[in-house]
Amino acid sequence: MIDRFHRNVTYLRISVTDRCQMSCTYCTLQEEPKETLTADEIGELVKVAGERLGFRKIRLTGGEPLLRRDLGQVVRNIVATKEIVEVAMTTNGLLLADAAEELAQSGLRSVNVSLDSLDPLRFRELTGAGSVSQVMEGLRAAKVAGIPRRKLNVVLLGGVNDHEICDFVRLGQEEDLEIRFIEHMPMDDARLTSWRVDPAQIRQQLVDEFGELQPIAQDKNGGPAELSLVGGVRVGFIRAITSPFCDRCNRLRVTADGKIRSCLLSGGVLDLVGALRAPVEEEERAQLLMGLLRTSADAKPPVYELQREGAIPMRQLGG
Ligand code: SAM
Repeated sequence: MIDRFHRNVTYLRISVTDRCQMSCTYCTLQEEPKETLTADEIGELVKVAGERLGFRKIRLTGGEPLLRRDLGQVVRNIVATKEIVEVAMTTNGLLLADAAEELAQSGLRSVNVSLDSLDPLRFRELTGAGSVSQVMEGLRAAKVAGIPRRKLNVVLLGGVNDHEICDFVRLGQEEDLEIRFIEHMPMDDARLTSWRVDPAQIRQQLVDEFGELQPIAQDKNGGPAELSLVGGVRVGFIRAITSPFCDRCNRLRVTADGKIRSCLLSGGVLDLVGALRAPVEEEERAQLLMGLLRTSADAKPPVYELQREGAIPMRQLGG
């Protein structure tokens, strides 16, 4: 689906719940958590998006997606649409060790595990739950289960974990992981300047330790990460603040309360659950869903407004 600014929208991120065991310093939820869409409704939405509008990639996120007991069924309902070529998940990894096998067999092909510190105490301070070793167990189980793409998401927080960068790359070497360093996006004014990191200084740390970074070329649909090989590890930088990638943003988002958002921070919110539950025939419902997805894609702003008043946490948006 091509939007008003000629971006090919092919990627749907679905927040399957906004429940989470963690209460990360930069990502907490003030409201009652929600988990609105059923596995069948998600399957129906993806069928329309994939068969009729050209969507090709689905990411399950949250909240913590692994808190949903029916997540394997959600994945199976998605892969039933053969136009979907990639089903991925973003998770905190705490429950991954037990779930990896079923998810791999259901068709999950890519997992991003969030881990902001390798130091057990700092990890606990940042997240309020779980442990580094639980996350590592989850990552290893994903490898054993045969999930081919495994990435680590590290949100860089100046003065908190920015001295651990080289340790993360070494972990990538040892565990065969892609490492993605993500700029913290301040979702409220108070966080605008705290935790800022200097990209040049980050780069220099890596060069000093591993030698010159070797950029990996990507096509224009290649996603938000600027990729390089560092010490043999694929390392991505996602710089939403210092180098926004809105011009190649190809995604829409479904929130845990059953709405479609065209952008993290602006671009409108549409009621999806109403359309999914409308008492109409299948074809009419498909038309309603197509209308919503098209309207949302057309509302995608050219560039996000970061400090929009009332911005809500990633956990609710499906970060
Ligand atoms: N619970 C899952 C997890 O921990 O990966 C999925 C949801 S979490 C909201 C998805 C990702 O968003 C995590 O990697 C988290 O670190 C990141 N995130 C949350 N708030 C953020 C912010 N303000 N800026 C940048 N990344 C953020």
